[in-house]
Amino acid sequence: MTVVEVKHPLVQHKLSYLRDRATPTVHFRKLVEEVTLLLTYEATMDLPTEEVEIETPLEVAPMPRISGKKVAVCPILRAGLGMLDGVLDLISGARVGFIGLYRDEATLEPVEYYVKLPQDIAERDVILLDPMLATGNSTAHAVRLVREAGASSVRLIAIIAAPEGVERVTSAYPDVRIVVAAIDRGLNEKGYIVPGLGDAGDRLYGTK
Ligand code: URA
Repeated sequence: MTVVEVKHPLVQHKLSYLRDRATPTVHFRKLVEEVTLLLTYEATMDLPTEEVEIETPLEVAPMPRISGKKVAVCPILRAGLGMLDGVLDLISGARVGFIGLYRDEATLEPVEYYVKLPQDIAERDVILLDPMLATGNSTAHAVRLVREAGASSVRLIAIIAAPEGVERVTSAYPDVRIVVAAIDRGLNEKGYIVPGLGDAGDRLYGTK
């Protein structure tokens, strides 16, 4: 399954507060982190494990530990940054890459202004973070960047997606696994997701 919409009551409850225009910045920021942590649980469901011998205080027994590649988590700036701690709370050893893109409001196309990825990203499972999968242009651009840097395993955690964005990313990159809290009705004429939650960056950082 390429796209997973997480219906867990905790996720949906917190998402309803994120959508509420009356939710203040301080709560919005915390809720983004909490929802991301819950989505990370789902997004990492298929990480491989291996049995290792563990000595408990009572006996030696085989127990599962995560094996294989390490993780690189890459927020798409600026709004993706608000999700970073939610992932790092669960995967504290992850390396972090930054992908700076802004959206040209006339064309809705992404413009790259800063990219700094872990050197060994090719040997890591990549988790891209972008709270709003709207047109999908920024995410598709970010997938291309990490692919060109050698990454083969790429996941995206978003909070809300529009069907248009899901279609754009899955048609270009069918092997990218997308985990979201909700897939909304669509995009309005300004490229905002409806009903959505507004501008995630402005709401996270109180810039409007
Ligand atoms: N970016 C946002 O922050 N919100 C949207 O609805 C779409 C893109």
